[in-house]
Amino acid sequence: MAKRVVLLGGGVGGTMVANQLARQMKSEIVAGDIEVTVINESETHVYQPYFLYMAFDQAVPFDAKRPERSVLHHLVKLEVGNAQAVDRDHSAVVMEDGREIPYDYLVIATGSRPAPETVPGLLDGGHMFYTEESALKLRDALHQFQGGRIVVTVGVPHKCPVAPVEFTLMVRDWLNNRGLESSEVLYTYPIGRLHSLEPVAVWASSIFEERNIQSRTFFNAETVDPEKKVITSLEGESVPYDLLVAIPPHMGQDIIGRSKLGDAGNWIATNRHSLQMEGADNIYVLGDATNLPISKAGSTAHFEADVVAGNLINRLRGGLGSIRYNGKVFCFIEAGSDEATYVQFDYLNPPKPQAPSELIHLYKLAFNKMYWLSAAGIL
Ligand SMILES: Cc1cc2nc3c(=O)[nH]c(=O)nc-3n(C[C@H](O)[C@H](O)[C@H](O)COP(=O)(O)OP(=O)(O)OC[C@H]3O[C@@H](n4cnc5c(N)ncnc54)[C@H](O)[C@@H]3O)c2cc1C
Repeated sequence: MAKRVVLLGGGVGGTMVANQLARQMKSEIVAGDIEVTVINESETHVYQPYFLYMAFDQAVPFDAKRPERSVLHHLVKLEVGNAQAVDRDHSAVVMEDGREIPYDYLVIATGSRPAPETVPGLLDGGHMFYTEESALKLRDALHQFQGGRIVVTVGVPHKCPVAPVEFTLMVRDWLNNRGLESSEVLYTYPIGRLHSLEPVAVWASSIFEERNIQSRTFFNAETVDPEKKVITSLEGESVPYDLLVAIPPHMGQDIIGRSKLGDAGNWIATNRHSLQMEGADNIYVLGDATNLPISKAGSTAHFEADVVAGNLINRLRGGLGSIRYNGKVFCFIEAGSDEATYVQFDYLNPPKPQAPSELIHLYKLAFNKMYWLSAAGIL
């Protein structure tokens, strides 16, 4: 009987692992010895980094979406549907319609979701750009904005470690270009500096000062009053706003909670090197779904996919699966004014942001377009 590898989640991580398996185990799959199945709740693959650009009308939903079937290798099976639970006792994923999809190896790549409901009033009083719908609403609000104070408030954990800083720099630029230079931009962050990665915090602090962006630290959003347009922090500070943009704290997906696979935030305890779920030899976890103390980013999922796919191929062919993940992350950072920089880091080496340049901005735009090749395993 074929060995069954099931990828739960067909976003960045799940798709990349599946395509690497299909490309490298073609003969075994064709011979019926290996079966690779992706389960994804939607037929559409979404490239989320475009949401940032959608907020400024620099991208439209068309840019961010492709049919998942077209991104997957033809030897990978695709099950479209909402998975209800992982049944570890029977080594199967249970679908919403009751069907069971059995696995020998399971790869969990279900991602994460913003949880604006954890801040009362935020859904009514604030904007976001972490989903297509919210990014488009924010785009419309920015087009109607007549000036005043824009507050960007950040909750942790959240995916894409640098998107809040990128948005803040881009919105400053956007205001300046529309003759709204006198409008204020205020960025708030929950801990005692501007970013969880210290070198990024130092870099952000200096560029914010240069670009006339205000900031507050130790600001954990507790409530939003949509009528009065005031956001209040756990620390007791109240800040009035004309436009509020939030990057709410995130959670792992509900299926993780329903299957009792994670902690209170639905994050799965994962071995930082092998990427196996703690206590589960045949379950791997990658991307946003892990509880690892590293950035939740597409690039993280990409580098982790190389490790998970490599170990699965090795084990399916009789090896022990000894490739180790070193915590590698790479993120471009849009800096406004058609410039960008980047950070690269791992478990041992901290990031060192460089001076922004137009060339790096062009690299980021080019990478966005080439993402589809990367997901397909061609790049
Ligand atoms: C605005 C924004 C900007 C970003 N910019 C960058 C950037 O510049 N660089 C970068 O590296 N990262 C960026 N990211 C982060 C990046 O998109 C995520 O970290 C990455 O997508 C995580 O990959 P993943 O495979 O873990 O999860 P996802 O890509 O989110 O995939 C998870 C998949 O699982 C599916 N799923 C979940 N639950 C179920 C279920 N119960 N049943 C079936 N299917 C399910 C989902 O539908 C989804 O397709 C950005 C994100 C946002 C929102």
